[in-house]
Amino acid sequence: MPTETTYAELTSWIQRVHALGTVGELLGWDEQVNLPPGAAEQRAGQQAALAEAAHGAASDPRLGGWLAKLEAGAAGLTADQRAVVKNARKDYDRATKLPAEFVREKATQDSRGYHAWAKARSADDFAGYAPVLAKNLELVKREAGYLGWAGREYDYMIDKHDPGMTAEVIGRLFGELKRELVPLVREIAASKVKPRADVLRGFSTEGQQVFLREVTERLGFDYNRGRIDVSLHPFCSGTGSDVRMTTRFKEHEPLDSLFSSIHETGHGLYEQGLPADQLGTALGIHAGMAVHESQSRLWENQVARSRGFWRCFEPRLRAVFPAQTAGVSTEELYLAINAVQPTLIRVDADEVTYNLHIILRFELEKKLFTGELAVSDLPGAWRAAAAELLGLTPPNDREGVLQDVHWSGGAFGYFPSYCLGNMLAAQLWYRALALRPQLEEDFARGDFTWLLGWLRENIHSQGRRYDALELARRVTGEELSPKSLLRYLRERYGALYWR
Ligand code: ZN
Repeated sequence: MPTETTYAELTSWIQRVHALGTVGELLGWDEQVNLPPGAAEQRAGQQAALAEAAHGAASDPRLGGWLAKLEAGAAGLTADQRAVVKNARKDYDRATKLPAEFVREKATQDSRGYHAWAKARSADDFAGYAPVLAKNLELVKREAGYLGWAGREYDYMIDKHDPGMTAEVIGRLFGELKRELVPLVREIAASKVKPRADVLRGFSTEGQQVFLREVTERLGFDYNRGRIDVSLHPFCSGTGSDVRMTTRFKEHEPLDSLFSSIHETGHGLYEQGLPADQLGTALGIHAGMAVHESQSRLWENQVARSRGFWRCFEPRLRAVFPAQTAGVSTEELYLAINAVQPTLIRVDADEVTYNLHIILRFELEKKLFTGELAVSDLPGAWRAAAAELLGLTPPNDREGVLQDVHWSGGAFGYFPSYCLGNMLAAQLWYRALALRPQLEEDFARGDFTWLLGWLRENIHSQGRRYDALELARRVTGEELSPKSLLRYLRERYGALYWR
C-alpha cells in the first residue's frame, strides 16, 4: 500500500510541524503571563530560532514529494484523507512560495508597523502613520500575488482566516444585516429603559476568581487539560490537552472579566474538543476564525446572557459577593448584563452594536483593496461610516481609524470573522433549541452538557473537514445568513428595551 505509507509519512510530518508551532504558542503565552521584564530580548531570540526551525520543517522538500504523490493518486484516498492533503498543500505553498527576501521584509515591516501605530495612536497622528499602512497594503497584495491570488487580493486575505469565504459572500451577508440592524440599534438607543452600569462595584479579585472558576468549570472547560491565568489582554491559546486561557480583573467592572473569560472558554472548549490523535492535520484543527468565534460568542452571548443561565448563577454570585449585590435587584443585574449603548470603540461595544463596528471595517478594507479608497482618505471615510452606522462621529482619529492594532501588522481580512461568527452562533443556537427546547431549563439547573455534547459532535470533532459555509449548511440545514442573528437580537433585546 504505497499510498497508505505516503499518507502516514505526510501526517506524521504535519504533526511534527504542528508540534513546533504549539511550542511557539506556549512561548508566546509565557511571554504575556510570566516573563520577567528583563528577559524580553532573550525570549525574542528563542522565538526567532524556533520560528526558523518551524519554517524549515514546514517547507521541507519531502513534504512536496509526498503531496505530489498523494495528489496524483487522489482517487484512491478517502474523503478525510483528501481534506488532509488539500489543507497540507495550502500550508506547504504558503511556506515555500514566498521568496526569503520578501518574508524578511514583511517581518521587519510588521514589527515597524506595530510601533508606528502605537506612536500615531498616542499622538493622534494619522498622517504620520499613513505611509506605513500604505506599505502594509502593498506587501500583502504582493504576498497574494506570489500565492496565485493576483486580482483577488482581498479574497486571499479573507481566505487566510476563513478558508473558502469571499468578499462577495461577506458583502451580501453584511448588507442584509446592516439594513435591519441600524434601525434596531436606533430603537434600542431611543428606549426609556436605561441600564445602570454602576450597579456592580468593588468586586474583589479573589472573589471574582472563585466565581469565574465555578462558571467556566460548569460550562465544561476541563482544568485537567487547561488553565486560566492573568494577562493584560485576555486570549486563548494552545489546543488539545493543553489549552491556556487568560483573563484580567477589574474591581469595578466584574462583568468585563466574567464575560471575556466565558468568551475565551468558548474558544477553549472548541480546542479541547478537537480529535486528540489528529491534532495538526485538517481533521484535528479548527475550521477557521469565523467558526472559532461562533463558539466563543455562543457561550458568551446566547448562553451566558440568557435568563436560564442567570437563574443558576445569580444565587452563586450573591453568595460570593453578598455586600456588593445587596442593593441590586434581579432585574437590574440582568439589565446590566445586557446593556446596549452605541460607542465609538469596538472593543467596548455590546453584542448588538459590535456587528456595526465590523461592517464598518469590512466596507473600508474592501475599498482599500479595490483602490476605490486611498489610505490618506481613510480618516474621513471612517468618520462618515461611523456617523451612518453608529450615529456617532469620532472627535479624533484615536477614537476612529487609529483604534485597532490589526492593520498595523498587515492583518487585513480578519475583522469579518467576528461578525460571521456572531451569525453562525445565532444559527447554531436556534438549531440547538429546535432539537432541545428545554435548553434554558437545563441551564437553570446548571446543566450545560447537552449543548456541549451537541457542539462536540457537530462542530468540534469535525476539525477542518468543512468550511464555515458548508458547516452551517450541514449542522443547521440552512445557508449561513444574518436571519437568526437578527431574530435573536430582537427577541433578547426587544424583551428588555421595548416595554
Ligand atoms: Zn474570540
